[in-house]
Order: sequence, then C-alpha cells, then structure tokens
Amino acid sequence: MGSGASLDVSSSEGIHVPVSTEKMVLEKQHMDDADAFFSAAATFNEDEKRLFSRMVGYVAKTCLGGIEYSMPLRCLQAVDALEAPESRVALCLHGFGDDRCMALWSHFWLPMTQEGFHVVALDLPGFGRASGKPGSTKDWSSLDGELLLRLMECLRIPSGCASVFAEGIGACAFLRAYAQDPTPFAAHHVLLNVQIGEVPKGLRENLESRGADIMLCGCEKFYPAQPPWMLSGLNQLSALLLDPSTMGLLGTFVLWKVKDADGPTPIRSMKDGTWWTGSLEKTALAHAGHALVFRASPDCFQELFQYVRAPPRKVAVKTSPLGPEMTSIEMGEINDTFSVFIRIRPLLERELKVRSENCLAVSDTDFPRDPPPQRILVQSGDSSLKGSYVFNRVFEQSMSQEAVYNSTAKPFVQDFLAGTNVTIFAYGQTGTGKTYTIFGPPEDPGIVTRSLSDIFEKLPADKDLHYEYVQLYLDDFKDLLADAAGLGKLVEGKAGVELVGLSSQKATSASEILQAVAKGATRRATRAQDMNEVSSRSHAILMLRLKHANSVDIFSSMFIVDLAGSERVARSGVTGDGFAEATNVNLSLTALGRVVMSLIEADINQTKGFIPYNASPLTMLLKAGLGGDSKTALIACVTQAADSLSESVSTLRFAMQASHVKNKVEQKQAQDQADQEKAKIAEAANELRLSGGKGTVALTAGDIEVWGTWQSAAEETVILLGGLGSELEELEGLIAALRDVNHQVLAPKLLGTAEKHLDSDVAILLELCDWLGLAKPVFYGRDWGAVRAVRYKMVHPKRAGNLVLENRLNKMDEAQYKAKVKKDPNFSLQEYMGPWLWFFDGTFPKSFDGSGFGKNVKGFKGKVLFLWPYHTKGRHDPPKKVTACSKFADAYAKAVKTKPVDSYLMTDADVAARIVGFAE
Ligand code: ADP
Ligand code: MG
Repeated sequence: MGSGASLDVSSSEGIHVPVSTEKMVLEKQHMDDADAFFSAAATFNEDEKRLFSRMVGYVAKTCLGGIEYSMPLRCLQAVDALEAPESRVALCLHGFGDDRCMALWSHFWLPMTQEGFHVVALDLPGFGRASGKPGSTKDWSSLDGELLLRLMECLRIPSGCASVFAEGIGACAFLRAYAQDPTPFAAHHVLLNVQIGEVPKGLRENLESRGADIMLCGCEKFYPAQPPWMLSGLNQLSALLLDPSTMGLLGTFVLWKVKDADGPTPIRSMKDGTWWTGSLEKTALAHAGHALVFRASPDCFQELFQYVRAPPRKVAVKTSPLGPEMTSIEMGEINDTFSVFIRIRPLLERELKVRSENCLAVSDTDFPRDPPPQRILVQSGDSSLKGSYVFNRVFEQSMSQEAVYNSTAKPFVQDFLAGTNVTIFAYGQTGTGKTYTIFGPPEDPGIVTRSLSDIFEKLPADKDLHYEYVQLYLDDFKDLLADAAGLGKLVEGKAGVELVGLSSQKATSASEILQAVAKGATRRATRAQDMNEVSSRSHAILMLRLKHANSVDIFSSMFIVDLAGSERVARSGVTGDGFAEATNVNLSLTALGRVVMSLIEADINQTKGFIPYNASPLTMLLKAGLGGDSKTALIACVTQAADSLSESVSTLRFAMQASHVKNKVEQKQAQDQADQEKAKIAEAANELRLSGGKGTVALTAGDIEVWGTWQSAAEETVILLGGLGSELEELEGLIAALRDVNHQVLAPKLLGTAEKHLDSDVAILLELCDWLGLAKPVFYGRDWGAVRAVRYKMVHPKRAGNLVLENRLNKMDEAQYKAKVKKDPNFSLQEYMGPWLWFFDGTFPKSFDGSGFGKNVKGFKGKVLFLWPYHTKGRHDPPKKVTACSKFADAYAKAVKTKPVDSYLMTDADVAARIVGFAE
C-alpha cells in the first residue's frame, strides 16, 4: 500500500503532485495500522478494496496561531485520470468527534473516482471546531478558512476545481475558506448538518459572483442510538440559502429521515428513508474505535453527482449575478401577460404610536403610458438609497380597495370570461396586507368579492362557475371546502394541474362562494395554532373554473392566491414546528424564485431551458401562472415602516425579477371564434361534382374550371395554384401524386393572365373557398402560383393554412439548361428573376441578405415550406455550397420568413408527401 500513483490534480500541465509551501509542509505518510480499515473491513466490496490499495497518504503540517497542527490526508486518483479532460477534486471533510473520521465518506470514494474526481479526504484538527486546541475556548474560526486554503495551495488545485462534500464542522471550515477566497473551489457543494453560528462575511457575495450554490442536507439521526443533532442548528445557513430575495439561486435544502432511526426531525422527510444512510463501523482510525460511515443509494449518488457536475450558473443574466437589476417596464418592455404591482400598506395604529419612520417614496415616471408606471424608492434612516424600481403601478397607502381592484384584477375578469386563464398572486412579508388585498374586511372587500360580483354580472347563460379552495401548508394540501383530511397528489390533467380528490362546487351566486370561503377560512386553523399564524405560514388558493353548461371540461380558470409570508423566518432559536414551517415556507418561495429565474434565463438565452416546477407543490400547482398559459398579476405588498426595510427591499427585488416572466397565453376566445367561423363557412358549402377528376364552379366572375379530387369540405384540402398560362396541365402530376395518397386536392384555373390580375384572382380564390366551404385550406403555389398564394394569405390571413411554395421554372437538367441558353443568350443573367421578383416589388434584390423586399410582402405572417431546385447550369449543387442559386433562394425565402429546401431531386410524389406532412 502507498506505493501507487501520486495524486494528479492538473492534467493540463502534466502530472502535479502535492508540494509543500511556505506555510504548510506536506510529507508522504505511509499507511499505518489504522489504514487497515480500508483494506480489510467487511463493509467494503472487492472493487472498493482494489481502489483503496492505490491510496496515497500525506500528512500536512502547519502552524496557526502559534500552535502546530498535523493533519492526515488520504488521496485517490480518478479513474482514467489521464484521459479526463478537466481535473476535478472531491474534497471530503467531516467533523472531528468520537464517532467520526475520514472514513465517513469512504463509500462515496469509488463512485467519485468513477465520476472522474480525484478524492482528497482529510481529518481536520481540533474538536468542536476545525482548528484550535481541543478544549480551547478561543475563537479559531477565522483560522479554519486559512487552514483549508493553505491545503488547497499545497494540493495545487486549479482554479474552480474542488467540489466539497463536508459534514458538520468540516463544512464550517469550508464555508469560512470559501468566504475568504473562493478561487480553488468549484460551483456546487454538498454540505450535511453544518451548524454554523454565524454565516461568514463574504460568503453570500462570493457565491453570487461565482454562480455557485450549496446543497444543504439535513438528517438528524443515522442510527437509532445516535445522539440527535438539532436540525435547527442549520438555520443560519438555511436562512441565507432560503432567503426569498435570493430567488433560490444560492442553494437548496434537503431534509430527510433515515428509515428506522426515529429522530426528533420536525419536518416530513423530503427523501425516502434509505436515500442516504449511515452506520457505525469499527475502525482504529477513530478515537472511539468506531466511526460513522455513510452510504448513499444509487438515486442519491445520481442526484448528488448530477448536481456537483453541473456547470456554474451563468452569472450574467443581463448585468448582475442575481439577475436583472431593473424591471421589464423600466427597460422599456411592455409585458401584458405578467403584470407586477406594488401595494403599500398604511401604518397601523400601533406603528403610528411608536412613530415608525417611513422608508418608501413613490413618484410617477415619464414613461408614455396612461396612467404612467411609477418609481418606488427605498431609503434608510441616513437617507442612503437601498432600492429603486419602476412598476406598472405602485398603490400608495391612500389607494382604496376598489382602485386596486380596478387596475389589477378587473381587466382579468373579462379575460377569464372570454376563456383565458388568469392568476392573481399576493406576495410579501407577513402583515403587509396580502390577505387584506385578496379577501379584505366585509365592509371594504378585496379582490375576491369584487371579482365574483363582476363575474356573476357578466356570466354568459351557457357557462357555469365552479370553485375550489385549498390551503398548502407544510407541503400538504387541505381542501378548505370539506371537512375531510388530506388530499391526494397533484396530477397533470386536461386543463393543467389538478388535485386528486379536491371537492369542486358549482355556484349560482357570489354570496354562496363568499360564505363557503369564510367557512373555509375557519378550517385553516389547526389545534396548536390560531388562524392568523397558520394563515401567515401557509398558502391559500381560490380556484374559479368556468365550464360550458353541463360539461366537465374546464373552459378557463382563475386562480387567486394568498401566499405565505415571505419574511426570513428561519432565525436562530426557532425549533420544532416553527423551524419546520419556516423552512417549508421558504423552500416553497425559493422554489418560486428559481422558477422565475429559470424562466428569465431561458427567455434571455432563447432556449427552452429546464424549469424546475417540480421542486415544490406550490410551483407545480401554479405552473400555468408562471410562464404558462395564463395572464398573471403579481401584487407585492410592502409596509413603509422602516423596521421592515430589508424585507421590503427583498419583496421589491422579487417583484422586479418576476416582472421579466413572460407567459404564453392561449387565446381561447380567438380559437372559439375561428371554430365558429369555420362552421359557418362549412354550412354554406355547395356540392361539387367532378367527373373524371374535372368539373366547374359557377362564380361571379364566370365558370371556373377545377381539377382534382373531392369528397367534402370536412376533409383536409390543398389548393394548387399554377403559373400564368397553362395552369392545370402542368399540375397534373402533382394532382395524381396527392390522389395516390388519398389527400383531397383541387386546382382551379384562375382567369388572370398578368400581374395586374393578381387581386382579381385572389377574389376568385376566396369566393371559390366560400363556395366549397373550405375555411382554411393549405395552399401550394408554383412559380406565379406562389405569388398568388402569398398574396391570398396576406389579404385573407384567416382563410389560408400553411403555404408550400415551389420554384419549378428553374428546375432543369444540363441539356434543358443548354437549350434555354441557346434560345435566349441572356437567360443566365435573368435566370432567377421570374415571378419571385414580386417579393421585391418587381425590382432586382439590392442585396442577398434579405433586406430590401418591398411592400408586397411587408408584414407577411404564416408558415411556409419553400422548395427551390439547387443547381448551377443544370448540374445539382452539393448541399450547403454557396452559389448564385442558393443566394437567390435565401433572399426569396427570407421575404416570407423561412429557409429554402432543395427540391432538385424531388419527384411529384416527394412534393405530395411534403404537402401532406405540412398541413396545419
Ligand atoms: P398579510 O396577509 O400580508 O399577513 P394582512 O392582510 O393580514 O397582512 O394585514 C395586516 C394588518 O394590516 C391587518 O390588520 C389589516 O387589516 C391591515 N391592513 C393591511 N392593508 C391595509 C390597508 N390597505 N388599509 C388598511 N388596513 C390594512
Ligand atoms: Mg395573510
């Protein structure tokens, strides 16, 4: 043992082995008796023992605060270290007590090395702290960081390469080192049961600036006889990570309970009981002769490594590490799908009595909107500025409930009745007026009452209103309309997420719902707490559902949400239920924050991006309202009292970030209308009889000849449009190919013979579609027929589906090309001008970058398949070669906002297949 390879921590410059530095001496250390644990213990399998036989030992010696320390280190090289493109180090740290030592992480080492990590495990000196003499009461904490940074230097860990797996005091040492200098450390770290008394200065800033975060894990007991740790000891760090204003970017919190080890853990396990376990193993390494050794389930490993290996979060979301610094409206964007409002609560009597300072100031902006958006300033007592943001509207304390309703929810009631989903949130610290805004006192009611009276006033006779009312408390949903306990899981239903077993009721009046909601409010109280307390620590969601009469399908939903208080509740000393509640509220609000940030990032990078809706039941339930199919209003509530300044800044920052969320609202009303129109058109259809695939239709302009196939207007149909002249014969091949695949096709012989007849042809086409009962057929246009199709789509956008445009004029082989040139020596100069010049108002394109197309295609909208035969002088061009032909194709395709597809080798059957596949 011990004669194996050295530790390679940087493959970029060849093999680097740890070295001594000025401040720390590193000596090789031969494995001693205690190391026999790694080679002999029954707990390890053969693969692990084989790996451990290559273990290298060092001892690091250093002097801190006048005391000499020596720390044993054990190192393992990554599997395929030389091939690994980047070097990564898993630094395994642990507390130092009677039942723990570096063996703690030993079952993690094999998967770590297989994942391409070099492993460095060490024993920190001292007991009860990372550095410091056992029993010493002096504060050594500042030296802990120094100790670890000295070691990083000896290990010559390249910048950003050390991922930390640390438990207890080891994690404290890491946090202190990271706060001092984050350079050697990677972006993601797994910390367990870290009881840090005070979060070191600089930690938050360093995490933010490096796009780093922490997975904080908490488990009180790994085996029944283990003395419990107080999980609440984690609250300093969890308060930082779960502070809603961080938008969940600094990390997350996983709490779980090991199966059979009943601990006092106050919170429900977030992982199953064997996710990560631990047991006592005999080892001479530990003072007590045995040590706690961790084991992780395959699921757990997968989750941890996926987390640790992820690249750092991209720090530059626009300009700042923590996302945008300005609201979307301040940046000039009008965001109609996600509006953000601020409401300032007036000072309460008790606040007036103690003459609370006012820390908020509001002013109109000159943004050209009526009413103009407003700026809200947050100033502290010394009048230094703590925040400055512009929002759609800031409701000052004097604003009435009615005024707030009129600007926020009232416009949404119309949308809801017309089939659009809407979501209204109240967000903010406890006591800032969320419940007042949403429900309000009976004599001056809030949004719910006012919305309901407007809804019932305008409820169409063919629609019913149903409602549901739930509370989300400690990750449990409670049906507030029923006495029964517990609700089932959230499932993805037809109309979005649904809760299994939730009672839904049909309402005939506003007062009926209001009474049920008032009764529901009394169900919110639990035995232990009064109603107010539970309501501030839980989310309440009223869901209104509009349905067609006697139908089960939801037409549209309106979610009105009173969120739990966003204050940072995990203060030290909070234990038991309080700790569980606080942690839970903050976990769900940071999950909300992370969803918001992921949406912003995906929007900026124009990617789909993974949006972590699944991280919390709250975000799952409100998925539609956050980036989904809903119009959303966020009303962020703040108080002007100066003692809530930091909470107000936090709320305003959250609101500012959320203002960048863009929802994708489906216009059900528009869809409904289109369906109705379609039905009307179909109703007026005439019967077309074809004989031998040919027939005529009598229109105002005269009899129009049509070739093709016909069953009924209900079939998917493609209308073929040929060039000027012998239109129908040239389309015969394609008609046959479409008939062969049973696709309904009609090619009309239009009357136009010149460009000036374009609009009269379009009029004939519309009349033909009406006559046939075709609401929105697909159009195929060839050469001049392509121009007809584009013009038709522009004049009657709702009466044409997708377009397939093809250049046939220029499709030719070498012999045909030569013949053309012989007939017209100028052919090569005008080759691509033909009908397509119409896209450029009949002039030659000034450039090929697509600029300069004229008014003829201005504002064109629609999906187009653009077929173009790629060749030079009749010889097929290799794909991707830039030629005159490809440049023209690009320019013309760009005019209709698409890219060309090479059709040189396509047969009529190929084109038919494309048309069939391209129907809307
Ligand atoms: P939250 O739901 O955010 O915890 P509440 O809505 O319960 O806060 O409001 C806290 C207190 O402030 C309540 O007594 C409430 O009546 C009062 N309050 C809140 N907003 C207003 C307002 N705009 N005008 C008058 N009183 C208000
Ligand atoms: Mg409330």
